[in-house]
Amino acid sequence: MAYKKIEQFDEKTTSELMKNYRSAIELLGEDPDREGLQKTPERIAKAMQFFTQGYNIDATEILNSAKFHEVVSEMIVVKDIELYSMCEHHMLPFFGKAHIAYIPDGTIVGLSKIPRVVDAFSRRLQVQERLTIEIRDCIQNTLKPKGVAVVLECSHMCMQMRGVQKQNSVTTTSAFTGLFLNNDATRKEFINLVQAKLN
Ligand SMILES: [Zn+2]
Repeated sequence: MAYKKIEQFDEKTTSELMKNYRSAIELLGEDPDREGLQKTPERIAKAMQFFTQGYNIDATEILNSAKFHEVVSEMIVVKDIELYSMCEHHMLPFFGKAHIAYIPDGTIVGLSKIPRVVDAFSRRLQVQERLTIEIRDCIQNTLKPKGVAVVLECSHMCMQMRGVQKQNSVTTTSAFTGLFLNNDATRKEFINLVQAKLN
């Protein structure tokens, strides 16, 4: 059988959210019974649960499930990780890319787990600054490497749609530990690797 996408939603949560979104649509001056909007409360209820699924994901457990002892002391970089989150002040999306590196101290992790850690923390109501630090601390505390570097570059719909700042502005946040914090050459190497375009 071909790949089948399975989505599960809590029924009680979904129906409570639907009531609230129906009421919100009405309060905003729309008719929730007109054809195009009839299923909208349900769609929003499910979409919002998808966007906040990170509350049910244990990022530490994800890393612990794929740890390997390996004598590697070179920097490991995973860059251009797609990231979608929700600003906790406006509940509007912010999205962009995460660039993450760590220098192992005897323990490495399956590479695919790093983007899943990003998902676990970004699929919540967030601010970009805290998201950056939560990703860093999770990797640092679980793998105990010689250093972790996290850089996030995101566009915030709450800024762009509300015209607070220039369109297309990108917010960059970073958080470092260990060698990335204490060693300029290490940090520069990371920045160079993130900026490098290999064509
Ligand atoms: Zn906002």
